[in-house]
Amino acid sequence: MTNFSDLLLDVARVRSEFPILEREVHGKPLVYLDNAATCQTPQSVIDTFDDYYRQMNSNIHRGLHSLADEATAAFENARETVRGYINAGESREVIFTRGTTEALNLVAQSWGRANLAAGDEVLISHLEHHSNIVPWQLLAAERGFTIKVIPVDERGVLDMDAYRDLLNERTRLVAVNHVSNALGTINPVKEMASLAHQHGALILIDGAQAAPHLAIDVQDLGADFYALSAHKVYGPTGAGALYGRAELLEEMPPWQGGGEMIASVSFEVPTTFAAIPHKFEAGTPAIAEVVAFGRAIEWVNRIGLAHIAAWESRLLEHATSAVSTIDGLRIIGTAPQKAGVLSFVVDGAHSQDIGLLIDQFGVAIRTGHHCAQPLLARMGVDATCRASFAAYNTPEEVDVFVDGLRHVINMLR
Ligand SMILES: *Cc1c(COP(=O)(O)O)cnc(C)c1O
Repeated sequence: MTNFSDLLLDVARVRSEFPILEREVHGKPLVYLDNAATCQTPQSVIDTFDDYYRQMNSNIHRGLHSLADEATAAFENARETVRGYINAGESREVIFTRGTTEALNLVAQSWGRANLAAGDEVLISHLEHHSNIVPWQLLAAERGFTIKVIPVDERGVLDMDAYRDLLNERTRLVAVNHVSNALGTINPVKEMASLAHQHGALILIDGAQAAPHLAIDVQDLGADFYALSAHKVYGPTGAGALYGRAELLEEMPPWQGGGEMIASVSFEVPTTFAAIPHKFEAGTPAIAEVVAFGRAIEWVNRIGLAHIAAWESRLLEHATSAVSTIDGLRIIGTAPQKAGVLSFVVDGAHSQDIGLLIDQFGVAIRTGHHCAQPLLARMGVDATCRASFAAYNTPEEVDVFVDGLRHVINMLR
């Protein structure tokens, strides 16, 4: 049994803040191990919606009345909270989006459309989520640039020698995730950024999976762009953020037109655009969700990301050694640096069937391709089971999961 007693996370107290953890599934206590897909929200985040709609619901940045002022202040306060969380230099470098997917599409459609043409190369990695592959494919079909893929080895670790060889004077952008959602691999993005910059290329980091587990410092990493989603960091769906260096954002054209993003609109002279970040925030945003995103980060800051990370890494260690005793189980993704994710396949038992049957034990895990089909193909599988951990998971829950897994595998064989 792994020892957790030295860790500074009071898991009972943490759990008491998450009402959903009290519910049962099929008459069993919920064991929620699908945190890499979406994370649960604490009461303080849930309360935001009630507070917001009872107290200050109003459109932001436009009114001069009190409610509009208060809503605007709450929204901009969330921007400052996100800025601090990723250590961006200025809050105008934080653009609110619907999530990571929209943030990555923003970079493709604005920076990419303005800067990429035939002869240029964009490097992505074999570890990417579909949302950091498909926007580049869509744009490449139009603009004629080439997408090159940084390979991974059988452990799910990026081949850094191949990366160095792929970089050249045609490389304009490296788009890579900080942590792989399918395998949990932590990528050496700081070193990758520095190598990209030596070749005059920019780096876009998909931080969706890093944000809940790793301290992020976009300035220290040398990130040109960094994307994250609120719902992977104890926040609501429908909100996320893109960090971009101010000089880059200022030069980039808008990608969506509408209210909020203009300076002045005319039929006679050219329409002019607002300063960043508003230039990239057309229309009424998901105001309550953004405010709740800020509260979620405040929650993480209160518990302490370092304590959360240490707890999750111990859970991963415990789960990894427990499942390793199961006959015919193979862990997919064995990188030395991993965060919060245990992906595996079992001889003689389909992943889909395992996921469905283990739900009968109240255990929620994910099965399938995890929006990373090229990666799974590289690992020689078309689906895996994935258990992923958050601050509120316990070693006892890991044991329920592993016992359930043994039962299910016996049923299937
Ligand atoms: C979840 C995830 C995404 C997509 O995020 P959305 O919130 O669905 O937009 C992108 N990349 C990684 C690594 C993810 O884990």
